Amino acid sequence: MRYTSTRNNKISVLSYQAILDGISPDGGLYIPQELPKFCELDLKRMMSYDYQGKAVFLLKTFLPEFSEDELKNCMASSISRFDDKIVAPIVKLDESVYILELWHGPTFAFKDVALTLLPNLLKLSKQKAQVKDDILILTATSGDTGKAALEGFKDIDGIKIAVLYPTDNVSNHQKLQMMIQEGNNVLALGINGNFDDAQTAVKKIFCDEKAINDFKKSGYILSSANSINWGRLLPQIIYYFSTYLDMCEVGEIKIGEKINFAVPCGNFGNILAGYYAKQMGLPINKLICASNTNNVLTDFLTQGRYDCRRVLEKTISPSMDILISSNTERLIYEISNKNDELIKARMDELKNSGEYVLEEDELKNIKDIFYADYATDSEAMQTINNVFLEKDYLMDPHTAVAMSVYNSYLLSEEDNLKTVIISTANPYKFAPDVLNALGYSVPSDDLKAIQKLNSKTRSYVPEGILNAFEKPILHEKVVDKDCIMDELKNFIK
Ligand SMILES: *Cc1c(COP(=O)(O)O)cnc(C)c1O
Repeated sequence: MRYTSTRNNKISVLSYQAILDGISPDGGLYIPQELPKFCELDLKRMMSYDYQGKAVFLLKTFLPEFSEDELKNCMASSISRFDDKIVAPIVKLDESVYILELWHGPTFAFKDVALTLLPNLLKLSKQKAQVKDDILILTATSGDTGKAALEGFKDIDGIKIAVLYPTDNVSNHQKLQMMIQEGNNVLALGINGNFDDAQTAVKKIFCDEKAINDFKKSGYILSSANSINWGRLLPQIIYYFSTYLDMCEVGEIKIGEKINFAVPCGNFGNILAGYYAKQMGLPINKLICASNTNNVLTDFLTQGRYDCRRVLEKTISPSMDILISSNTERLIYEISNKNDELIKARMDELKNSGEYVLEEDELKNIKDIFYADYATDSEAMQTINNVFLEKDYLMDPHTAVAMSVYNSYLLSEEDNLKTVIISTANPYKFAPDVLNALGYSVPSDDLKAIQKLNSKTRSYVPEGILNAFEKPILHEKVVDKDCIMDELKNFIK
């Protein structure tokens, strides 16, 4: 299978090159030239495999340059990082609502699903492309990607990783997790600005020939661990399949029955993996795109106008505080029937004027697949409280946004299909806001907030979240975005 760029269909590279580059040299995003399609029989066959087997079955169709053994080993190493070696457990809330908990990995957020796999895929890609240089992974984070990427790439030979995070726009615990990061090849750097500033700075370096040459002279090529990298997106397709098939296996649904997924969205990577799963034949009815008050995606998917000319708001779901959702570029490429020139023009428009508008038939197509809405902080807090009181289930603010938007979906559409809410973070990562949502006073000390949440709810608090407070701070630096290049040069010296 070959990969092309959303901005130039003439580009054609093999899978390992797409993973290695992270982003196409023309600034576009890599996508597979055609998608594998699975019928009911394939699904039945896949049902008999365990998670690793399902994953390898799917991965090898996208990564034919990787051997089955290589993929098995990569998956085994990824799965070994999860609690009880279970990557995607499902909790049944009631007769029609299920929670998919994707946060049982090393950093307690769903980013671990992909970022425990990507480093090994990248290492193999480097070998396959016969690249002798080392790799510098450059990644912007709205909070969770950073820690998951640092953890995934730490101490891997031949790779260095630098993470840029907006210093005032991540939760205290997210920041702490990055500041204590160990490893001989890691840098966590605070940026004055928001996530879009950090992401734009990273994308700019990727398209800056002089910068690329400078790195090359120092013996480094650049790659990305953000969901602009196909190797980040691909592992996320797996859990849509595994969830569906697990529900079939235990008799919650019959094979072929359609279900919905409600997804808390930021960079649009998670839900785009769901879109690909649907295109590949998984019986998905609606993909419910949930935003917080940074609701660019809601407006885009309901009105067809992508307009990022607004002020980024700080919310209690910081990993979704994003105005420029990179992966919508992949969606409109697919929706426009792979019209690369149109996509390039629209991305230029977005950059220059801050907006672009879809054609009517494109919007209709999108509305057939996606439902979109947003939840305010107070709606998310109410949802946390209601779900805890009524179902004895504690959810984090990102998951609560998805749950809240699912409730609005039920009010607006007549639909009694079973729905999976994707839970993207452990609630203890955001203990102060969760405590507040439950109506308790919040201790100013973060550790005390975590302990209080635990004693009030008697829910499970991961060891790793408590341990973070005992570790030494190793990364403290905060810089303006103009100084990022200097810091990076220093780092690779
Ligand atoms: C990254 C993240 C999201 C948003 O996912 P995207 O793939 O960027 O849309 C939602 N919730 C949490 C907790 C996250 O870390």
